[in-house]
Amino acid sequence: MTEATKATKKAHCPTCDGERTCEVHGTIYKPWDWEDRQYGYSANGGVDHSLLECRGCETVFYETSSWSSEDIDRYYDAMGQEQYEHPREITTYPKPEAKTKPVWFNAMQKADPQLHNILSQMYVAHDNQANILTAIGLRTALDRATEVLGIDPAKTFDEKLNELRGGGWIGQTERDILGVVTDAGNAAAHRGWEPDSREVSELLTSLEVFLHRAFIVGQKALSIKSSIPAKQKRLAAAAKKTTP
Ligand SMILES: [Zn+2]
Repeated sequence: MTEATKATKKAHCPTCDGERTCEVHGTIYKPWDWEDRQYGYSANGGVDHSLLECRGCETVFYETSSWSSEDIDRYYDAMGQEQYEHPREITTYPKPEAKTKPVWFNAMQKADPQLHNILSQMYVAHDNQANILTAIGLRTALDRATEVLGIDPAKTFDEKLNELRGGGWIGQTERDILGVVTDAGNAAAHRGWEPDSREVSELLTSLEVFLHRAFIVGQKALSIKSSIPAKQKRLAAAAKKTTP
């Protein structure tokens, strides 16, 4: 598996975004050793570096497969004897194209370029499993969104959320969920709390639902409202407004 250049192995192709049979164009193994003499502590491990080519789409990519003496999986064999092995951590570059952004994401550019920029960086953090930075990004995006909606930036997060509720942008349930987004962002920013990926996904979904309603559906709803004629004779003029 390591020597022959025409060997194949299963790997995660970044273009197909799935496990594919790949040709191995080259592999090199690099062991490492680490020792702290003062505390008599040592660790070792190694990394297999491989240049691979997907047999399906012919994408060439790079894979590392590493192990460390610090990372141990223990289990019992059929005889009841305790065994252990070092699990392999496998990473491929480039990463598959991120698919996490909602379809309406580009429309946010028009709503507010700064909010769009914050969200864009938040998605980069999210796609790289940087959960602390994602949580901070969610809170920053929520903060900017309230400002765009005309809420005084000097107010506290609690006051801002109450104003969103008071203004009819959100209901009580959403207010509570977005409260969790701000608390999570605060905890991540000030106490280094790291939400797990499931928690981050839930927080992200809550913010997306709010943004979608406030900036995408809300805008459309308002333009529909403005096109609903108050009197029959204004119908023609109002209908023109529906397509800006
Ligand atoms: Zn492929």
